Amino acid sequence: MVQINDNYLKLQAGYLFPEISRRVREFQKENPQADIIKMGIGDVTLPLTPTVIRAFHEGVVEMSKAETFKGYGPEQGYGFLREAIAKSEYQSRGADIHADEIFISDGSKCDTGNILEIFGPDNIIAVQDPVYPVYVDTIVMAGRTGGYQPNGHFEGLIYMPCTAENDFIPEIPKTAVDIVFLCYPNNPTGTTASKQELKKWVDYARRNNTIILFDAAYEAYIADSDIPHTIYEIDGAKEVAIEFRSLSKTAGFTGTRCAYTIIPKDLVASASDGNKKSLHSLWFRRHTTKFNGVSYPVQKAAAAIFTPEGKEEVKTSIGYYMNNAKTLRENLTELGFQVFGGKNAPYVWVNSGRGIKSWDLFDKLLNEAHVVGTPGSGFGPSGEGYFRFSSFATHENVLKSIERMKSLKW
Ligand SMILES: *Cc1c(COP(=O)(O)O)cnc(C)c1O
Repeated sequence: MVQINDNYLKLQAGYLFPEISRRVREFQKENPQADIIKMGIGDVTLPLTPTVIRAFHEGVVEMSKAETFKGYGPEQGYGFLREAIAKSEYQSRGADIHADEIFISDGSKCDTGNILEIFGPDNIIAVQDPVYPVYVDTIVMAGRTGGYQPNGHFEGLIYMPCTAENDFIPEIPKTAVDIVFLCYPNNPTGTTASKQELKKWVDYARRNNTIILFDAAYEAYIADSDIPHTIYEIDGAKEVAIEFRSLSKTAGFTGTRCAYTIIPKDLVASASDGNKKSLHSLWFRRHTTKFNGVSYPVQKAAAAIFTPEGKEEVKTSIGYYMNNAKTLRENLTELGFQVFGGKNAPYVWVNSGRGIKSWDLFDKLLNEAHVVGTPGSGFGPSGEGYFRFSSFATHENVLKSIERMKSLKW
């Protein structure tokens, strides 16, 4: 009999978003008139901007003519896009990253999961708790953990609690960890790490030969000038960090698909014989073997984001979401919630301040206000008691949801 990958059986049945959908569906069935406002899943709502659409069209037209038609492109992405990213996102911030250290892909979700392939199976891995569920699930699928334990942890994986008590920045591990996933601005908490905080992590990684997998999917939402936009703004990070960026939340590419991963050429790790090997070379081999590139029109569209007009348009879209976040922050605070995040990230992370558990708050808001958010406990045990609101909604709906929440008995 063919054997399956038993590691998949350890997964907690993808319980978070399917469970939210199930409860919403059930409620809708019993209350067909209810106008449900969804602020749960992290998906953008504004369309692609005019400059991006224009470039996208041009790319499509080029594909229609023999003289400009493109077949397979370079697996790691077209030079024009990688050059634009290196200049606009890194060199302009004093980070010494070059086009040949950038890999274009169809998403950071895939990249943050796939990257584990280039690392040995016995590495000790640490994740933030609460955390973007993709990291944990892909670690489990790859057989790098034991089973799920009653405390909500997978055996063998290190969980670093991020709560109000530590400003949502995990404590530096007391022991040596090989691989650390860090996400800033953070999903789900919407909080950020300052330069000093990130420097502590880079220094730790340098002392312990740790690799930091830095997910900066929400970099474009940073408004405060003292928050680093890339980990490579920190001295020495090029020797210890891989950075993931995505155009999904930056420019509304969730349905268009384009992201990029930076693997500096200085980055090395040990082979089993003790020899140091370049992680860039390994990922290059992996990427060119298992991936055949992002479509040409999409890369054309992506490059338009880094033009002056493109940047202005992206800023406007992000401004719209961040105005929602501000409205949520102010009003939820008025309602007596403890409110975090939402200043440099599209997520507002709240604690009811009344000792209500995450799923109980979910049910209360769904049943009484017809508002859907995400229970914090779904992102990890340290998320219990918290709740995530996404600001990717229309402003009208944000206002409506607040009005409804204010009319509830708390
Ligand atoms: C949305 C998101 C991504 C982006 O995923 P894509 O596959 O590029 O759409 C990556 N990391 C985090 C934490 C996210 O929330």
